[in-house]
Amino acid sequence: MSELVQDTITRLRDSGMRKTKALVELVETLADESRPMTLAELCASKRLVDLCDKATVFRLLQKFADKGVVRRLGLHERAAYFVLLVPGRHSDYLICTSCGTIEAIKAPCPVHALEDEIREKTGYQNLYHELEFFGVCPACV
Ligand SMILES: [Zn+2]
Ligand SMILES: [Zn+2]
Repeated sequence: MSELVQDTITRLRDSGMRKTKALVELVETLADESRPMTLAELCASKRLVDLCDKATVFRLLQKFADKGVVRRLGLHERAAYFVLLVPGRHSDYLICTSCGTIEAIKAPCPVHALEDEIREKTGYQNLYHELEFFGVCPACV
């Protein structure tokens, strides 16, 4: 089990969740895949496919999102993606409004200077951000 998986499980337990097999396997799956995944993809993944049903995975994901462990991305319920939030690391995303495809932006993040400025002006600490850009992907144009 990786440190990321262990830390994530500790955070969930500290926030009052029970450490079930489904919870552990879902965290492992999200950590294995560093890209955002849909509910269907998660349910079909090898760790979860024979372990729990879609409703269980969805309920866990909702709780993970409430507790700030998972971020939900995308356009709407049916094209929602879930990605593990890793402290100190972030991605900005590009989302196609036509097919719902999502990808992490590879270019260096442009807003860190802005974060510094906001920190100085407001006195906020531990600032973070995640951006979602919407557009039409090349396959849909
Ligand atoms: Zn598209
Ligand atoms: Zn960024």
